[in-house]
Amino acid sequence: MQKYQVLARKYRPQSFQEVVGQEVIVTTLKNAIRLSKVAHAYLFCGGRGTGKTTLARLFAKALNCAHLSDTQEPCNQCSSCLEIMAGQSLDVIEIDGASNRGIDDIRQINEMVGYVPSNGRYKIYIIDEVHMLTKEAFNALLKTLEEPPPLAKFFFATTEAHKVLPTIISRCQRFDLGRISITQITSKLEQIAKDLSRDVDPDALHKIADLSDGSLRDAESLFDQLLCFQEGAVTADAVRQVFGLVSDEYFFTLDQAFHESNLPFAFELVNHLFESGKDLGHFLTQLIDHYRLIALAKTIGEKGLPPPSSARYMQTSRYYTQQQSLILLEYLITSESNFQKSLSPRIFLENILLHIIRTKNRIPVEVLVRRLSELEGKLKEEPKIEAPPVIPESKLEIPQVLNPIPAVAPPAIPESKIEARPVLKPIPTAAPPAIPESKLEIPPALKPIPAVAPPSTKIGEPAIVLPAEQMPKKHQSHYDTLMRFAAVELEGSLKN
Ligand SMILES: [Zn+2]
Repeated sequence: MQKYQVLARKYRPQSFQEVVGQEVIVTTLKNAIRLSKVAHAYLFCGGRGTGKTTLARLFAKALNCAHLSDTQEPCNQCSSCLEIMAGQSLDVIEIDGASNRGIDDIRQINEMVGYVPSNGRYKIYIIDEVHMLTKEAFNALLKTLEEPPPLAKFFFATTEAHKVLPTIISRCQRFDLGRISITQITSKLEQIAKDLSRDVDPDALHKIADLSDGSLRDAESLFDQLLCFQEGAVTADAVRQVFGLVSDEYFFTLDQAFHESNLPFAFELVNHLFESGKDLGHFLTQLIDHYRLIALAKTIGEKGLPPPSSARYMQTSRYYTQQQSLILLEYLITSESNFQKSLSPRIFLENILLHIIRTKNRIPVEVLVRRLSELEGKLKEEPKIEAPPVIPESKLEIPQVLNPIPAVAPPAIPESKIEARPVLKPIPTAAPPAIPESKLEIPPALKPIPAVAPPSTKIGEPAIVLPAEQMPKKHQSHYDTLMRFAAVELEGSLKN
């Protein structure tokens, strides 16, 4: 029976042209060989699974290949290439910096580095996870890097470049490997599926690429797992099952709940997730992704969306204004870190969903400020009169939630219809006591309810400014309510 090789290993690039992403780095390395400008030391930095050691190995193979092609590709057939691919080369030595991190390990390298290569052109040391070396080891390495033997090359790889001694970095040519895009990962997975003659739903591949967070190796490992789970055709549903993901339908139903202000849905959904044993953290990540796509739909439009679900997102995004989509995305991103610290994730998640659904009726701060200013403008227009004329409610443009606060004998409104948050309820029907400004904790940004003359006032004419206590009672009440509302709205942003 043939030994099973994991996909990441089986499909590791053996030539520069097979490398996914990192085109600029590949070109630079090939040019260095072509122009005989190969430096003594290289540092490959980047997240896991972006191809650091793969590139280092390829570069080493190309440098020592006996039959390098015109395009600087290693032949993969000469003895040097074969030895390197089998991990048996005496000239290309791979060291794991995490387990060989002491000064003695580096001293050993320093002793060997001067020997002439046995088969290839260069003696090449590939040190992975180089940031794990001890300080003493770094210093010992530095000595060799300061005066490297002519035929020695050092290739370092690290996920944490900031932990590498600056004096080491300054002696290296540094390459930063970017995350690999979803499209690039998807197309590599497609090739693998084709090579294995497996029928895989494109949506499934896209989901895996999305989950792998820019790491091709992670994507290949996930794909491996998926192929083991399902024989025959692989569906997007299988991806959800294997990786505990929630079906996209839940998110679209949440959009519907938002549209209908259906608060109970928040509890129903979390309860369902909880009972079916879904990972709530995973769900939150998916939720952020969902709102990111809605924000994309609202700002860029269809061309900003990934093809498999673009039409669906264009449709569902109609429930949101652009501002709501941006506010929700921002809110979810801030909530994510708190969620991880939360002792009761279930309640936390319920709260997040409730917040989302309630956002539909939430008035943006900008609108509040505008309304406050408008109201103030109206107050200024009216000199102090005993009984002010009643301004039709409609003109005040007070949000519905706030309407039931008339100054005089209000019609009895059933509690259920009010939907005001608890903080708002205790607003008295009679003129409320003037709240001292200081207690409202309004940030300076909100204060520009300026006591300056309205634009219509002619220069030289004294502006009519009414101090709060002189405002007609009816307006005073609305004004206070709005101010309170603003204070509640801003509470969150003040804390941050
Ligand atoms: Zn070769």
